Amino acid sequence: MQKPATALRLGALLVALLPALSQAQTPADSVRSYVEAARSFAGNDHAFVFGQLCETPIKAVNAAAVTEKVPAALPIIDAAREWYAEPAKVFDDLYFLGQTAFSVWALRTPEGIILVDAIFDYSVEAEVVDGLRKLGIDPAEIRYVIISHAHGDHSGGAAFLQKLGAKIVMSEVDWQLYENSNAKEKATRDIVATDGFELTLGGMTVKTYLTPGHTHGTISTLLPVHDNGTAHVAAIWGGTLFNFRDAPDDPRDLRLRDYAQSSVHFQAMTAIAGADVILSNHTAYDGSTVKLPLLAQRKAGSPHPYVIGQDAVNRYLKVAESCAIAARIAEASGP
Ligand SMILES: [Zn+2]
Repeated sequence: MQKPATALRLGALLVALLPALSQAQTPADSVRSYVEAARSFAGNDHAFVFGQLCETPIKAVNAAAVTEKVPAALPIIDAAREWYAEPAKVFDDLYFLGQTAFSVWALRTPEGIILVDAIFDYSVEAEVVDGLRKLGIDPAEIRYVIISHAHGDHSGGAAFLQKLGAKIVMSEVDWQLYENSNAKEKATRDIVATDGFELTLGGMTVKTYLTPGHTHGTISTLLPVHDNGTAHVAAIWGGTLFNFRDAPDDPRDLRLRDYAQSSVHFQAMTAIAGADVILSNHTAYDGSTVKLPLLAQRKAGSPHPYVIGQDAVNRYLKVAESCAIAARIAEASGP
């Protein structure tokens, strides 16, 4: 009596499925679910990046607007160079050398400096070279420059830094993007970063991971840093916005899929490393527009504004993942 028993079980299964089927989610329901998931992951600390990444899906389903207001850039302090920001020491061994809206992070080891990103060709000398001098550090210490991705706001200064003697690091895919770009002056290939690539200098090891999405060769980075001697791990999400084109040979749908998967990959790597600091190459995304001024007023013994804990680092990456999924469903289901 094999068949009736199987039929009975199938029947029971169908009955069990019926309520679920009758309440099947529409694409708009799914978009709403991912937007609200992203909103709760964002909390108050990652509201800016949530507002940026979920902007289109929020509008698509008329979800609530983002209320938290985070400045989009650091204050203008030089009327002639509105992009100019002061350099700052952020950890014992990590420095901010960026502009009002774009970041360069400098890890100083006993044997030299590893930079993450090179900002623009027009600003790199004033921010990175003169910035280090202002901090009392010799720019000749710069040994490596890891380029998160080959867009001009992060790679524009690479040729200049290479001429100073630094070795430039990019992923294979973004070296190609860079080499085919219309940058006025280009660095030549030094080092190709792979997934899990380790760069050790002066006893400190920086790790890079391939996180395709924002560009196909975006790399995200883990840096060991210290606050008054206490060790922390900083994670840099290498490319943030979904501002890529849609083309038959490069569909947005697959980019958004890759982006979400890359976030899951980096979530695992940050968890294994115990990353408790999130950094970005845009000053608003990681809250540097708030944290750098706070840090300047920090009193001895009070918490470090950049040390947010492992859960908050994970929530930042979850916002990126959830908004990518929400955008993908919203775009697939049309306006
Ligand atoms: Zn970019």
